[in-house]
Amino acid sequence: MNESGTQPLYRFAPSPNGLLHLGHAYSALLNFHRAKHDGGRFLLRIDDIDPLRSLTHYEDAIYEDLKWLGLEWETPVLRQSEHLPLYADAVTRLDEAGWLYPCFCSRAEITRDAKGAQDPDGSPLYPGTCRHLSEDERQARIGKGDRHVMRLKSEALEAIILNDLSFDEYHEGEVPSRILASLDPWGDAVIARKDVKTSYHLSVVMDDARQGITDVIRGADLFASTSIHRILQKLLDLPTPRYRHHHLIMDDEGEKLAKSHGSRALRDLRDEGVTAEEIKKLLGFA
Ligand code: GLU
Repeated sequence: MNESGTQPLYRFAPSPNGLLHLGHAYSALLNFHRAKHDGGRFLLRIDDIDPLRSLTHYEDAIYEDLKWLGLEWETPVLRQSEHLPLYADAVTRLDEAGWLYPCFCSRAEITRDAKGAQDPDGSPLYPGTCRHLSEDERQARIGKGDRHVMRLKSEALEAIILNDLSFDEYHEGEVPSRILASLDPWGDAVIARKDVKTSYHLSVVMDDARQGITDVIRGADLFASTSIHRILQKLLDLPTPRYRHHHLIMDDEGEKLAKSHGSRALRDLRDEGVTAEEIKKLLGFA
């Protein structure tokens, strides 16, 4: 039980668009062990909203590699691709509440107009071109079938809602840091893509909430995204889990391992004769 008297619920949520590497193993093991340590539960979720990049053989490899590492999880496993109408419904609600607008820009146009500015993922920072379209123009273009994404109105949100919105970041210890959410680095983030009416941000927030996830532990590369997640939780009236964004490299041994093996898939290491016990020991879980 945690301090609020609820049973902690952890999850590992890989996207099946490649083979699992050492960083994934660290995330999965950290969540699994925290769950055991806290008398909590551990879920595996398959974040497969990307219709082109999500492949069944990668999903099968996730199950196989995690079993090889000795992990066990509850079934059935939630696969996001089976819940697309739920996410689409949330997009509609956000849109009807006035927090989104359609953007018709192509990737090339955004790259040109961003003039080198980038978001935390390294993508061109959207300069807000379609924010200024009139409602008539939007409806006309949607009516014509022009493909579009739906973006957050970050300026309006910053002004009205974002003030003082925060989340707790637990780092390695028990005392959290209070992190103020900010959309500044992201600008008008995409909440619904062109190909599916959802996004990584929206689906993750919806699922963490409906699965009752109390603790999100994931890589530091997703730290900046948590601001978007926090604002979506606020707009959709969803609870906020505790967050911890970990670094892969924990010590000299881990560093050596990451340097020599970090870019290779777990199954390649296995094929080369590295054992699951060795991986766990090197990652600090033995
Ligand atoms: N599916 C995401 C990824 O593979 C991680 C989701 C999360 O932990 O929030 O990068």
